[in-house]
This record gives sequence, C-alpha cells and structure tokens, in this order.
Amino acid sequence: MSLAPEVALAIDRAVDGAEAELGALAQRIHANPELRFEEHQASAWLSEFVGAHGHTVERGVAGMPTAFRARSGQGSPRVAILAEYDALPGVGHACGHNLIAAGAVGAFVAAASVVGKVGGEVVLLGTPAEEGGGGKITMIDAGVFADIGAAMMFHPFDRDLLAHRALASVWVTFEFHGKPSHAAIAPHSGHSALTACLDTFRLVDGQRVHFRDGVRVHGFVTDGGQAVNIVPERAACEFSARALTSAELDRVRGIVERCARAAAMASDVEVKMQVRHGYRDMVNNMSLARCFGAHAEQLGRRPRETDDSIGAGSTDMGDVSHVVPAIHPWLAIVDAGAAQCHERRFAEAAGGESGTRTAMVAAKVLARTAIEYLADAGLREAVSAEWSARAR
Ligand SMILES: [Zn+2]
Repeated sequence: MSLAPEVALAIDRAVDGAEAELGALAQRIHANPELRFEEHQASAWLSEFVGAHGHTVERGVAGMPTAFRARSGQGSPRVAILAEYDALPGVGHACGHNLIAAGAVGAFVAAASVVGKVGGEVVLLGTPAEEGGGGKITMIDAGVFADIGAAMMFHPFDRDLLAHRALASVWVTFEFHGKPSHAAIAPHSGHSALTACLDTFRLVDGQRVHFRDGVRVHGFVTDGGQAVNIVPERAACEFSARALTSAELDRVRGIVERCARAAAMASDVEVKMQVRHGYRDMVNNMSLARCFGAHAEQLGRRPRETDDSIGAGSTDMGDVSHVVPAIHPWLAIVDAGAAQCHERRFAEAAGGESGTRTAMVAAKVLARTAIEYLADAGLREAVSAEWSARAR
C-alpha cells in the first residue's frame, strides 16, 4: 500500500473533525425520508454541508433537480465518490441511503483536504433515485462519467464484504392482437390472442432447462380477453427476467421473445413487444476493492471478499460499473443475519448509533481509497488492466 501514513492520518482527522455534523446530517435525512427524485431536502442539506466546507456545489446535474456534483483538485486522474439519499415507500430509510450520503460527503471533504498533496481530482456525485429510478443511468447518458477514472461508494449491510453480485434485470411486455369472433356461433373464424398469450408462458417454462444458474423469469397476464363469448381479440402479459450477467440476461430475453413470437405464429395473431431496461449486473473491480479492504482492516473492520450464501438485488451502480471501474463494498450496521436491507429493523439501525459509526468508518476508508487511487500509478494500472480484461 502506498498511501503515506501522514496522509491517511490527515484524512482520518478530517473525518473525525466533522463527526458531529455528519452524524446530525445522517439522522436528519433519516428522519425526513424522501422517495426517488423527490430528495429535495436531502440534496440541499448535503450540498450545504459540502458548501460550508469551502466547495462549490453544482446542483441539477444531468437535468435532475436532486442530483449534484462537487470537485476538488485539478486535472487527471479523476476519482468519483458517489452518494445516494433516496428512501423507500412505507419503510423509510430501510436501505440506509442516509448513511451512504453522510459517508460520501464526509469522504469527499476529507479527501479534498489532502488532494493537493497527490494531484488529480476528487469528484463528489450526488445520485438520485437508486430505488427504481436509475439516476446514475441518466448521469451516465449525460456524460457525467466520461472523464472519471474510477467510481466508488459504500452500502450498509449486515456484514462487511468487499464485493457482492447484483443481478441484471429487464422487463418485457407482450401485446397480442387476434381476430374476434363469436365463441359459440363461429369459433372457426376467430384467432385467439389469449391462446398465444398463454402459450408464451408454456413455451418459456419449457426453456427453463436451458437457463444458467441464477436466472429468474417470472410473468403475469395483464389482459386476458374481453368477454366469455368472444374469441379474445386482445391479450397481454408482462415478464421480468434477471440474470447474473448482462450477457446471460440478453440471451434469456432473446429466448422469452422467441417464445412469444412462436406462440403468436401458432395462433396466427400479431405480437408487439416492449422492453424496459432495469439495472445492469455489478462488475466489482477487485484491485480497487482490495485497496478499500486494506484500509478497512487498518480501521478495525474484517471484510470478507465476497459471500455467496446471501441473496442479491439490483443497483444502478451496476450500470456505472460497465462504464468505469467501480466498487460497491458493504459495511455492517447490524450483526450478520439480524436484519436485512428493506426491513424495519434495518431502518432502525440506519438511524441509530451503529449506523453513524459505520458511516464514519466508510468516510475514512473511501477517502483513503480515493486518494490512494490518485497517488499510486501502479494501483491505477492494476485497476485498468482488470477493467480491460473483464467479461463483456
Ligand atoms: Zn440500497
């Protein structure tokens, strides 16, 4: 590890110096949960904190009122620290994004206090709507990541992990159009849209033997016909598919679409498809994740590299990880197995003392990792080499 001890110490002191403010910020956001794209108070409070520490904050990044950005240092290399701050309906901050926010702004301010010593630039990105809105995807499309060398964030969890999988996901809607006729007087003149719709499910089920491990395909009928005595003119269904990799997801989506086309052909009806993209899988850059892990260990945490025994969700950080090398490590705010993200007990922990303590550690570890990335050309080479060699 090439981060000078006095630089690490300066980072830790900067975070410690802001501890009271950061704790209050985490708790204020927790007490005022805001849903995706409506994080007006949280983004304002976070921007105020960063501004009070002497940085200019750009609001409304990528056309999203609750996205923001701040920069410190100059030129390349550039490293981004990402904040999330949206909450969930009903259960509030049960994903602990208030801690992601406090950890990220704390990390930025601390990294900014030493970036002049190592050169390069630290960029803070406030990213809205992780819970189903995909704010990071809008930022990718707007070119926000174009000049970024690596991106990082942390997420609260029930254990310390350097990397965990996130499933790639997609929604596909099928609309079938047939020919109506009287179901009793002239069934022979109709073409049933419903038959094609139901055949799609049967054909998809038949293809499951060809799915790789981790694939999920599940659907429901959204329109099953118009009346009992009419051969259904219209029918529709929706499928969601998930997979461990984007490549497998594309393959499985292709199979599902093929089934719908085959079913439509068998019934001689038309089918229209609509694809709505979810999030991409997470490509964890282990060279950078291990750097995060080494700093976490220095601060008394014991992260495992990964843990296949626990389930996975999806995140728009996955999309970021396909654009620049990225990490999404996890730090515990509860004992392993005690509570999981999106549960009320997890929300309690995110608003309590253990949550704040973890956010402080996260701020230090993220800042140290960001500064080491800027300072160490060898680390940057390893990160890029792993990135170039990734499966696509
Ligand atoms: Zn989350």
